[in-house]
Amino acid sequence: MTVLTPIESARSAASPARAAVMQAVSGVAQTELAPLVRAIDAEGLYPEGVMRAMGAAGAYRHHLPRLNETFDLRTTIDAMSRASELCLSTGFCMWCQSALGWYIFNSDNAELHETLGAKIATGEVLGGTGLSNPMKTLFGIEKLKLSATRVEGGYRVRGALPWVSNIGPEAWFAVVFEREDGKRVMAVLHGSGEGVKLTANDHFVALEGTRTYGVQCRDAWVPDAHVLADPIDDYIPKIRGGFILLQAGMAFGMIQGCIDLMEQVKPQLGHVNRHLPDQPEDFAERLAAMKAEVYALCETPHDLSREYFRRVVSARLMAGDESVAAAHNAMLHCGARGYVTGGDAQRRLREAYFVAIVTPATKQLRKMLADMDAA
Ligand SMILES: Cc1cc2nc3c(=O)[nH]c(=O)nc-3n(C[C@H](O)[C@H](O)[C@H](O)COP(=O)(O)OP(=O)(O)OC[C@H]3O[C@@H](n4cnc5c(N)ncnc54)[C@H](O)[C@@H]3O)c2cc1C
Repeated sequence: MTVLTPIESARSAASPARAAVMQAVSGVAQTELAPLVRAIDAEGLYPEGVMRAMGAAGAYRHHLPRLNETFDLRTTIDAMSRASELCLSTGFCMWCQSALGWYIFNSDNAELHETLGAKIATGEVLGGTGLSNPMKTLFGIEKLKLSATRVEGGYRVRGALPWVSNIGPEAWFAVVFEREDGKRVMAVLHGSGEGVKLTANDHFVALEGTRTYGVQCRDAWVPDAHVLADPIDDYIPKIRGGFILLQAGMAFGMIQGCIDLMEQVKPQLGHVNRHLPDQPEDFAERLAAMKAEVYALCETPHDLSREYFRRVVSARLMAGDESVAAAHNAMLHCGARGYVTGGDAQRRLREAYFVAIVTPATKQLRKMLADMDAA
């Protein structure tokens, strides 16, 4: 079992830093994000200014080991949650950015910490993660989509990923590919890198403002300097807990946003809404319990034990279930005012399903728990 080093433990206690980040993040959410929420949903607007302002506010850096005076996943989760209260597209883009930083600073590639990693941490460079396919591969759900040939000084990568978000021609993103000997490698690719082609995607029912592209690798060039782990065997267990835990920010914000919607209609509709079986107070109580569990798990994100990972997977499953349930109830409580095209409740309902289908999806989480029980 790996636990935090004493330095990491000391850093994780630093909550004044969290308060400062949250104050700045709340300001960005209210003044810059709130006015854009409908355009993000209806027109697929990518909130680039918000993403960069969130970076300047410190939203992408506190969970990064080896970088900070603090080492604190909770601050990053809380910042993502604040944005997700208003808009899940933005909350998800913040997760993409934060996950890429998590991979880089958990890698032994020190040069990448100082170059790309430092810029991802501040939002100066934007980026994402193409790890859905490998995360499914590692748990026996599908085959790895990228393969590579070893050449002098690096790899040539072939294959395609259907969806990678928060990217573009100027962005970086992480991928996993298979070597000729079957071993797997994780590396970063650039959106305009040699042999990399970004393709326009299907339209989604929500999350349209996430700059989501298909990625084609046609002998894409990956120099050794861009490798995060080769092979990935010991590295994936180090990053998988944080990868999943950070997604809690999307769920916490979604649930809180739905509680707010239910509360908002109480003055007009409370006399009849009180007959609905699920009330905002019920969701608030369960949200508090979920937060307590996730924040406790955030204290030791490098714990490699089976018991720890089981708790992480269980918390993530509950996050998806509760997000969908809260959005469903926001719709029931808001009634027709939530059902009009500009209504917030219908948007939250469409968004909420994303928490349950983004990797690891509800069905994958249930398979992982079943496999753990059977082992
Ligand atoms: C808005 C959005 C953003 C996403 N962003 C990312 C990201 O940044 N990084 C990332 O790695 N993943 C991303 N994904 C993928 C996501 O994480 C999940 O993998 C996906 O939603 C399906 O997961 P699932 O476990 O339900 O698999 P299933 O839907 O059961 O199966 C998924 C597999 O089916 C195939 N498939 C199904 N439908 C289609 C289709 N319309 N076109 C092509 N292939 C199809 C693909 O092979 C895919 O791997 C995104 C998905 C969406 C909808």
